[in-house]
Amino acid sequence: MIIVMKTGASQLQIDGIEKFLKEHGFGVHISVGTERTIIGAIGDERELAVSPLEVMSGVDKVMPVVETYKLASRNFKPETTVIKVKGQEIGSDKLAIMAGPCSVESPEQILDTALYLKSQGANFLRGGAYKPRTSPYAFQGLEEEGFRMLAQAGQEAGMPVISEVVSPVSLEQALKYVDIVQVGTRNMQNFHLLKEIGKLKIPVLLKRGLASTIEEWLNAAEHIMSGGNYNVMLCERGIRTFEVATRFTLDLSAVPLIKELSHLPVFVDPSHGTGKSKLVAPMSRAAIAAGADGLMIEVHPNPKEALSDGPQSLDFKAFNCLMDDITKIAGIVGKKIQI
Ligand code: PEP
Ligand code: MN
Repeated sequence: MIIVMKTGASQLQIDGIEKFLKEHGFGVHISVGTERTIIGAIGDERELAVSPLEVMSGVDKVMPVVETYKLASRNFKPETTVIKVKGQEIGSDKLAIMAGPCSVESPEQILDTALYLKSQGANFLRGGAYKPRTSPYAFQGLEEEGFRMLAQAGQEAGMPVISEVVSPVSLEQALKYVDIVQVGTRNMQNFHLLKEIGKLKIPVLLKRGLASTIEEWLNAAEHIMSGGNYNVMLCERGIRTFEVATRFTLDLSAVPLIKELSHLPVFVDPSHGTGKSKLVAPMSRAAIAAGADGLMIEVHPNPKEALSDGPQSLDFKAFNCLMDDITKIAGIVGKKIQI
């Protein structure tokens, strides 16, 4: 349930509610807003009648949460979450552009890409070190060496870095090198991994499972948040439908819908969402117009030679055009590019 405190409720009153809830076996999550404090009580609501809470000092109202997810819900936190990573903002009126190759392939490849992306205004450098591939014979990633190359390139270019983790072992390694961890589509419901990330404070980009509903996706975010890590951002990356002309079907309606249901920042990945480099710019424009807080774009110095996902990767020139395009759309929807 959600306990909305009165405007101006004192810390003593908030502490009183927290103590009461804990005594009744509830997990307590407090969201301090600009106007008022909202307390999320997670536990078996049959254990507690609503009425005693409603008359407690400082309480405005007590609401049951109808959604299966609670901490990820906008009812719990009306203000959109803003996550700050090394001076870059995610979720504010500034767009967050994450770009880089699907896989880190060599120190030169990732550094050249990083320097170019930085010069074009990208905010975060992406690069996969653990690659969950459909075929066991396809390139599987450079693992810890890949994290190291990514971190080095990010440092030289002055960009925070993001990379995918697939297991507790890769997570432990990643923590030494990356600023944001990515949970890929295939691991969205790897609850053991989500719980491990939930124990940390590291920002996490949670991609939508390729066959997951929005409710399942928000519940996956809840798995992370219920452990105490609220630094979660979501990324729509396409879902499996009957359509095979594109690699996946990019569900852009998820963007405004999630904005209504949740306070978490929402990204769109048109590279995996379409599988075709020529569709990346139009779908990026559409994503920004639909209200996305940022984009994740695959960029490679020479897409034809990429070890993974070449057909959907932009070359440098195409990325330059994309940035011009989205700068224009951003202005129309009240967002700006951040330097
Ligand atoms: C990726 O970002 O390279 C990736 C594998 O993404 P997804 O999990 O969305 O397929
Ligand atoms: Mn990829």
